Amino acid sequence: MTEVQNALERIEKGTYGTCIVCGQPIPEKRLEALPWAARCVKDEERLEERNLSITETYDADLN
Ligand SMILES: [Zn+2]
Repeated sequence: MTEVQNALERIEKGTYGTCIVCGQPIPEKRLEALPWAARCVKDEERLEERNLSITETYDADLN
């Protein structure tokens, strides 16, 4: 599944625009720049630090 498809799925579920990690709203400016953004800036940075794949992040979110 691509990030865009994930974003579309989250629009359907009504969770689009909120961080999948911490549940906080993603800033509007970030969504304008990156409409499929699934994480807030803080968690995106943390993800890059840990170098996790998107799949692993989604699995972690379900736990
Ligand atoms: Zn977050």
